[in-house]
Amino acid sequence: MKKILYSAALFVWASCAFAQKTLIHCGTLIDGVRNDTQTQITLVVEGKKIIRIDKGYTNPAADEKVVDLKNKTVMPGFTDMHVHLESETSKDQYLKRMSYGQADIAFEAQKHALTTLMAGFTTVRDLGGSGVNISLRNAINKGLVVGPRIFTSGKTIATTGGHGDPTNGWRSDIQFPTATSDGVVDSPDAARQAIRQRYKDGVDCIKITATGGVLSIAKSGKAPQFMEDELDAIVKTAKDYGFHVAAHAHGAEGMKRAIKAGITTIEHGTFMDDETIELFKKYGTYYVPTIIAGKTVADSAKVPGYYHPLVIPKAIETGKQIQATFAKAYKAGVKIAFGTDAGVFLHGKNAKEFEYMVEAGMPAIQAIKCATIIPAEILGMKDQLGSLETGKFADIVATNENPLQNIKTLQNVTFVMKEGVVYKNQ
Ligand SMILES: [Zn+2]
Repeated sequence: MKKILYSAALFVWASCAFAQKTLIHCGTLIDGVRNDTQTQITLVVEGKKIIRIDKGYTNPAADEKVVDLKNKTVMPGFTDMHVHLESETSKDQYLKRMSYGQADIAFEAQKHALTTLMAGFTTVRDLGGSGVNISLRNAINKGLVVGPRIFTSGKTIATTGGHGDPTNGWRSDIQFPTATSDGVVDSPDAARQAIRQRYKDGVDCIKITATGGVLSIAKSGKAPQFMEDELDAIVKTAKDYGFHVAAHAHGAEGMKRAIKAGITTIEHGTFMDDETIELFKKYGTYYVPTIIAGKTVADSAKVPGYYHPLVIPKAIETGKQIQATFAKAYKAGVKIAFGTDAGVFLHGKNAKEFEYMVEAGMPAIQAIKCATIIPAEILGMKDQLGSLETGKFADIVATNENPLQNIKTLQNVTFVMKEGVVYKNQ
């Protein structure tokens, strides 16, 4: 028995040490760190990693493979810092909450994960769902299903009646009692317990809803939903487990409280005022804009019967404001990371966000960094993800055109490699 184990270990070692090298010939390269492009570069991939970068097109040895991307622009795989792989917008989205079981959610989530990867997003942060997103992360890591690398918060943490309360908007006789395991908390003690429950669930980070939201069946999309002592308990407890905290927030007061408590990212940020912008800068908080989500919900609100009547005015107001807020925050020097809220719109359309960012005044190279090296910093993965450098994971995408000349080309990614495996090459 001992001998067999030894042999198996040796085989694994041998297959790693002598894995076939792949030489990727890149016509134009955006490496995720530099502000300029490079031309005629060879990325040498072995196993899951980039092991060398050569100037010029290196000739392959007899046992080496070549991927010809000489006519393409090559970039690091993108990271979307705000997705919901478990769900996707539809007219019957509220009915699905009542009729879908975990298995139904899981099969759909698997499809959304594949779609997201094929759009060039090799990493995502999944912020809220039923907990299926934790199992999906594990299944992808085991190689059982294909999808992006997932960092997930598991279930959202909210207050009673808040954006993220699972029975929010239901009639009273069918509202089941919510508990910290459902993420509904109304005191610092309950908040601590909810974070510890998330640790037990196996999450990578924490998501809270610091203000009302657009799509919940509730009147205010802006009102703050946590008190300072609860936020303080959340951030401090999360820190004990090495989790960063992402706070959904549209209204300024909720944003201010969350920033002062020390959360890491503010999601949406729609109605931030000048004082909030100053706080972002003072605390070094990241802003995850989700412009595409704001614009999409405003469009869907015009379709009769698409949303509950309480949702419609919130969706329209958010859609009108969200891109202008992004423009103002960028100009003021707020730190920004790319995130879309995919699921609120159709999965796979994530890269449209780049177009909205550039349209609002951000240079294309900076928009790309918002989806590459900046998320890697937030996720604590800067030594492994976010740029095309020796020693990092071979997460690589390519487009037909140079996105610095035409940002829309990012919506048609033609090549996707994740951890050295090619999933798409058109
Ligand atoms: Zn969201």
